[in-house]
Amino acid sequence: MNGLRIEQIEKKYMTAETGQKESFALEPIDLAIHEGEFVSLLGPSGCGKTTLLKLTAGLLQPDAGKIRFGNIDITLIPPESRRFSMVFQEPLLFPHMTIGDNVSFGLKMQKVAKKERQFEATRMLEMVGLAGYEGRFPEELSGGQQQRAALARALVAKPRVLLMDEPFSALDPGLREDMRELLSGIQRELEVTVLFVTHDREEAFEISDRIGIMSDGRLLQVGTPTELYEQPASTKVASFLGLKNIIKGNIRAGHFASEDSGIEFHTGKPIIDGKHFLILRPEVLRPITSSSKPQNDSVHLKGKVSKLKFKQGSYIAQILAGNQQLECTLSREEAEELEPAQAIELYVNQTDLQFVEH
Ligand code: ADP
Ligand code: MG
Repeated sequence: MNGLRIEQIEKKYMTAETGQKESFALEPIDLAIHEGEFVSLLGPSGCGKTTLLKLTAGLLQPDAGKIRFGNIDITLIPPESRRFSMVFQEPLLFPHMTIGDNVSFGLKMQKVAKKERQFEATRMLEMVGLAGYEGRFPEELSGGQQQRAALARALVAKPRVLLMDEPFSALDPGLREDMRELLSGIQRELEVTVLFVTHDREEAFEISDRIGIMSDGRLLQVGTPTELYEQPASTKVASFLGLKNIIKGNIRAGHFASEDSGIEFHTGKPIIDGKHFLILRPEVLRPITSSSKPQNDSVHLKGKVSKLKFKQGSYIAQILAGNQQLECTLSREEAEELEPAQAIELYVNQTDLQFVEH
């Protein structure tokens, strides 16, 4: 494989006072990123995203584990020799240099001839939407434009991997979306390999081929946005993704019962007996109406409508099943047949039942 491989990487920080007790530990982490792939690390502040990115860049040395590029072990190779580029939350442009010189600086260090440097810088600036800005100084650019220049500077030397640490989080929401689209387009065009860090769920889902969910120094799950959404491996991942309808219960001989027994059905799946959580995505919960007939192997739930909310073209129904409040997405037609406090029967196709053990 010609991509980046993070293998069993570990890092501990010790408390400053004693230097004896560890204050944070990145557990052994494995992650492989294919050439041309866009992978994001998503997790709350303090979970170790920047630490893992710095370890990858070579700005920190791991306590154990290896970083490989292709088949080469680069763990001990200094950052400047890795041919990786990094973009941070702050653009960090040299204030006394023009945008053109800022962008071509890396090429100058590589002793590329001036004419070629200028040509490449101009091309990159065009790509990020800053054509004609070569002669300006950083302070003459807006925050968003400075970040575009920082992206151009990072890409001009054709890095083998582009590492990005929350590069858009200091920008206004509208601008952030423009930057995402810009980055996505450029990444695909140049086929650059990207490891991107964010705490913004929406951003990660929109921009990534795959996402690694991090929490407390651990990488909990890696998958495509659809895999994570449809098959979260744990309630922790599910809650972090904002998934609704996580129901605690038990399975005995293929029969699921919620803790209050308000939801019960035969799973039709070979699942080990014991405590389980059932995760029902709001759109897989379907009302049984005259026009929608469930499939034979679907499971049925009974409840009562407690609230109907209009939300961007469709409806969200709150349904009380046992003492569980469930959320269910409905079309306008489906919602118009319902009234608050009405009894309702729902069905879920067996293939849409997601069980996790913790
Ligand atoms: P994130 O980028 O996900 O917000 P970081 O990787 O920056 O998380 O930090 C993870 C944890 O390690 C945090 O609790 C942070 O305070 C701590 N930490 C980060 N850098 C150092 C350091 N150089 N020395 C000691 N602790 C650190
Ligand atoms: Mg960070």
